[in-house]
Amino acid sequence: MATAVERRQPGRDPYARFKPWTLPDGILYGPFATRRKGMSLGVNLLPPSEKVCSFNCVYCQCGWTPGKPPPAEELRRRCPDLPTVRETLDREFPRLRQAGRAPDSIVLSGNGEPTLYPDFPEAVEVLLAARDRHLPGIPITLLTDGTELGRPEIRAAALRVDHPTVKLDAGDEQSLRRVDIPLVPFSVGTLLGWLREMPPVVLQACFVRGVVDNATPAAVEAWVAAALSVRPRRVEVYSLDRVPPARGLEKVSAEDLERIAEVDSLRRATRVQKCRET
Ligand code: SF4
Repeated sequence: MATAVERRQPGRDPYARFKPWTLPDGILYGPFATRRKGMSLGVNLLPPSEKVCSFNCVYCQCGWTPGKPPPAEELRRRCPDLPTVRETLDREFPRLRQAGRAPDSIVLSGNGEPTLYPDFPEAVEVLLAARDRHLPGIPITLLTDGTELGRPEIRAAALRVDHPTVKLDAGDEQSLRRVDIPLVPFSVGTLLGWLREMPPVVLQACFVRGVVDNATPAAVEAWVAAALSVRPRRVEVYSLDRVPPARGLEKVSAEDLERIAEVDSLRRATRVQKCRET
């Protein structure tokens, strides 16, 4: 897929110190140790070992998105069906508990954008029921890029989980197009409009520098205004932790993330985290 950013070249790896990434080949992955959510169990509703997303973020820990999301009917054929999801959760959740590996949190994320799953609202109910049966009290986080939040049923399903977390990497359209590279019709203004119609959610932003930079003073100023305009429950900021697909990206230092979080009006809402949960 053509992108505004060059692809990484084999043999020249400026990211040797970064963690590698892999695509889960099943419905569950982990639990993995994370900084903020303790031992975190990932849930992947998307096709095994295949990325499906409505964005093509330059920093994505799943690599480049191979193309636009397939139509729902095609996706339905490639994703695990609901009975398989239910059976897997009912089998594996008790196993984890009995093995003393019950997670501290469950994160609905996986191989791309989870709300593209054709039966997403039903899958959320399956996950909530399995959690209540086998791992009661364990909080569920949804990580979404927000592109499907214009659909009332997706919005309602997102709000069913404990921590609905929406990506907002930029407050201006140019930065959004350079960092997130939407593959579907989408704009910052559209997302903010949807979020203003919803109860508050958690916002999450990845800041990067280098060939793409959404951490300039102007970009941060626009991002702060956008974030505050939707009265978020909380704002989380982070930077590269795994090898990004784009060449020429640089990590924003912890000090600079702290400075972004210290913008007066955001201070109470923002947490700095080093990486995504899963
Ligand atoms: S929205 Fe998430 S999964 Fe999709 S490209 Fe961006 S970081 Fe990757």
